[in-house]
Amino acid sequence: MNHIVTRFAPSPTGHMHIGSYRTAFFAYLFARKHNGKFILRIEDTDRNRYEPEYTEEIFKVFEIIGIPYDESYIQSENLPRHREMLQKLIDEDKAYISKEEAKDGSGVIKDIIRFKNPNKIVTFTDLIRGEISTDTTDLGDFVIAKNINEPLFHLAVVVDDHDEGINYVIRTDEHVANTPRQILIHEALGFPLPQYVHLPLVLAPDKTKMSKRKGAVPVIEYLNRGYLPAALLNTICLCGWNPGTEQEIFTREELEKIFDLDKVQKAGAIFNEEKLNWFNREYIKLLSDDEKKNWVMKYLPEQLKELSDDMITKLIPVIIERINYFGEIKDFADQGEYDYFVSKPEFAIDKIVWKTDTLDQSKTHLQKVHDMISEYSGDWTTEGIKSVVWDYAESVGRGNVLWPFRYTLSGRDKSPDPFVLASILGKEETLARISNILNK
Ligand code: GLU
Repeated sequence: MNHIVTRFAPSPTGHMHIGSYRTAFFAYLFARKHNGKFILRIEDTDRNRYEPEYTEEIFKVFEIIGIPYDESYIQSENLPRHREMLQKLIDEDKAYISKEEAKDGSGVIKDIIRFKNPNKIVTFTDLIRGEISTDTTDLGDFVIAKNINEPLFHLAVVVDDHDEGINYVIRTDEHVANTPRQILIHEALGFPLPQYVHLPLVLAPDKTKMSKRKGAVPVIEYLNRGYLPAALLNTICLCGWNPGTEQEIFTREELEKIFDLDKVQKAGAIFNEEKLNWFNREYIKLLSDDEKKNWVMKYLPEQLKELSDDMITKLIPVIIERINYFGEIKDFADQGEYDYFVSKPEFAIDKIVWKTDTLDQSKTHLQKVHDMISEYSGDWTTEGIKSVVWDYAESVGRGNVLWPFRYTLSGRDKSPDPFVLASILGKEETLARISNILNK
């Protein structure tokens, strides 16, 4: 194979979703696999629909998610070259200026540049879809520029692909219909044709096209929510590609070695947020303690950050156990989930009563727990605390003891078990919370 050059050519006209970055990642991986080059080209030619903030967003996502590119270009900066190629087509009688009434109903006559269609059958072999033939007669003399200074999409794409040395055009199915026009322009300019690769779309779980309306989440939003970039990349890579084995977790380095376009499926691939959550939880498990701490601290509400280092260290596994992504820490905090680590919970006293007990019985159990714990001088760990209380709980009924113990500490119907809570709160605070209830 000759030196492979691929590109990802997004139009910054809106937030970009999973499907777009999957295209980018496939093009990147294919280039890496073959020691080629991967180019990022921002297609901002259509100035009416272009928004600079979306260009910034694309660069930001590439940086955070970690897809490196070898070169990047801004298409509008190539205007002089597009103009030159337009002029060449006109001079060679392959395009012409046509005076036409503007479509806005103003009656103004404008110079539009149309391509002189040779009206032939264009056939190309798509690496995924196989041979595709189109009778271009149906396309007529299509417009390639609004005027000499405003080339349109097809011309700009062809000139840039050629000038940037791109020999593999990897993009989604949606562009299949554009390819015959672009091939005609390539031919008219005497440019060699690239290999075309049209990827099947990434679909929503109901197998329809992903759309904003159907809850398609911009990738930047996933990153802001605290999904791990590696988990996102792993998930999107398996959208429409698999290595033919059972393996699901891949490092970047592995993918760069094993990815190839021949294993890309022909049918649309479904993106499922459940799957992303699964991958993310798996990737969280792979983080070191320090990395876990850094991630948690990024999303931890201020009042929890003020807890002692020791408490935070113990709290981290408890927090991580329940989340799919780090941004959920904020959601849980907003629902008051961690309040009981910061201050004594407030609740009606009869809440501590286990269903088969009376308030007095529950208080008796709590008193017993209090006494056993105060006498305990071993390690203040989940296991240690459990060993103190367990036999008693087993003898009188686990729920009868553990429910009031847990409720006293957290004040919530759902929370980690009382041993975990006590180990985080510390001995003094645990005893203080129990005494507080006993004195009521
Ligand atoms: N700029 C086009 C888009 O965002 C892609 C062009 C191409 O890949 O050829 O849809």
